[in-house]
Amino acid sequence: MLRIQNGKINLCMPPNAKEAQMETDRIASSRRKFVQNCLAAVGAAALGGMSCTNRPMHMGFRASAEGVPDRGMDQRGDARSPGYLELERSGELERREKALWALLESCRLCPRRCGVNRLAGETGVCRSAQTFKVASYGPHFGEEAVLVGKRGSGTIFFSDCNLLCVFCQNWEINHRGDGRLTSHAELAGMMLELQRRGCHNINLVTPTHLTPHIVRALRLAISAGLRLPLLYNSSGYDSLDVIRLLDGVIDIYLPDFKYQDATIAARFSDDAPDYPRHAAAAIKEMHRQVGTLQQTNRIAHRGLLIRHLVLPENLAGTDSFVNWVASELGADTNVNIMGQYAPKYRAHEYPPLSRRPTREEFAQAMRWAQEAGLRNFH
Ligand code: SF4
Repeated sequence: MLRIQNGKINLCMPPNAKEAQMETDRIASSRRKFVQNCLAAVGAAALGGMSCTNRPMHMGFRASAEGVPDRGMDQRGDARSPGYLELERSGELERREKALWALLESCRLCPRRCGVNRLAGETGVCRSAQTFKVASYGPHFGEEAVLVGKRGSGTIFFSDCNLLCVFCQNWEINHRGDGRLTSHAELAGMMLELQRRGCHNINLVTPTHLTPHIVRALRLAISAGLRLPLLYNSSGYDSLDVIRLLDGVIDIYLPDFKYQDATIAARFSDDAPDYPRHAAAAIKEMHRQVGTLQQTNRIAHRGLLIRHLVLPENLAGTDSFVNWVASELGADTNVNIMGQYAPKYRAHEYPPLSRRPTREEFAQAMRWAQEAGLRNFH
């Protein structure tokens, strides 16, 4: 049940039967209108403690920011009906949400398979229990042009992470856990606010350890009119079972594929030697679900875009990566080969991660992509 308390929208249980009946009647009569009214009345106050940092987590190709007009979907020209609407109508999204929550009881939400009972407050590698934090949200112009358009990607940065790389570009959020505890209703409100501000999609950054929370918030937002494509922006360290549960829920997948070598993955990402194996399986499933990137008016509304950060001395295994993409997914797969690596967090303790890739190393990475026959890389 959604309630307003102390100027915030909260999920809570009614204190008595009379109030429960009143709330039920009110929601039954116009749940959508109720949520919209709540958001209009207190949204700014409830969410006012956060703002978009616009931090360029991945630079990719930029599009210029030309303001963020408050436009309806019919004026956007890029609106498509996202898959989650039909899933919600049929009751399937509720079933998926329950299946995701069940994974938290002995947590196997990601390949770490910590086995902790997050519903009882226990935490594993990602340090998240049954609650979650958001670091910032807002229109973001630092993503690829096809995601940014003119009005930005509606980005929500979640705190904490299940991979924890030593060169993390956002270590304050992902390692230190900077952010604010957020309710499901607040997260739904953020999604709706990003839609109202004209963003082209809802971009969920570091979502892997929080998929049950995201789907719960999504269902609240759907009931209040959310219609934007949902974008899953992960490290690639995802469980195949969870990605299968997201079939039809996610419209655009934006995974990293960071390494090809188990020893390197273990050394740089908190003892995760199985990263290459799990990332490959998850990305293949993502590709099966949504295929290559589909655009309207140069804005993506469905598909897979893989990010690959070039590391010094080919630690990322770029030659193997591009050949894997060509042979397993096809030459038309969309790939962003990123050259902006800079040593951050503890990278200086792990040479050669302590330096940027040279110009020649990046040029070699692009040549490998060309030689592999990839047609949609930049
Ligand atoms: S989501 Fe967190 S607690 Fe669950 S398996 Fe992954 S790292 Fe462990």
